[in-house]
Amino acid sequence: MRIVRGLVRKIAVIATAYVAGVFLILGVYTGIAECNGLDYSYTFVYTFCPVLKIKDSGNIILPEPHGDGDYDTPAGSYGPVVVIDELCWEDTTFVEHEIVHARQRYRLFFIGFQLLYTYSERDRIYFEYEAFKAENRLVSDEEIALQLSLEVYGNGLSREQILVVINSYRTEQLKT
Ligand SMILES: [Zn+2]
Repeated sequence: MRIVRGLVRKIAVIATAYVAGVFLILGVYTGIAECNGLDYSYTFVYTFCPVLKIKDSGNIILPEPHGDGDYDTPAGSYGPVVVIDELCWEDTTFVEHEIVHARQRYRLFFIGFQLLYTYSERDRIYFEYEAFKAENRLVSDEEIALQLSLEVYGNGLSREQILVVINSYRTEQLKT
């Protein structure tokens, strides 16, 4: 009984820290948006997990392009916060894509997502697949695989190799 009680207490402490951490990040970014006059709103994933959406004007949050021709980051997500460049705000596919990443983060307790995204090629490909699929349900898996193979996410894998990863990942999920 004492073991169970100890375990429950540990879980309660971790859960409280998790929620406190999420609200701290949301609070800090809401403050940044307020202070810089950026538009923002909240949405929810998994019914009650908050996600803050910020429209970044003048590269307050997203990195600024360095010099001519440098890539101007259109969108990014920071924990439960999704930031979209003002130039891409009207194009809802960016928000849809980043919201999926926010959902994946909640699902894997943030740190799990970060570790898998950084160190597991297979998981990173599937995370991006889910995000691209959310942008447009009508796009085929073949097209997404091609797109991923052309971008940095594909890590130099071919379209066929990425398709194999997506399919094996999905079959595995169906089994569990
Ligand atoms: Zn992505």
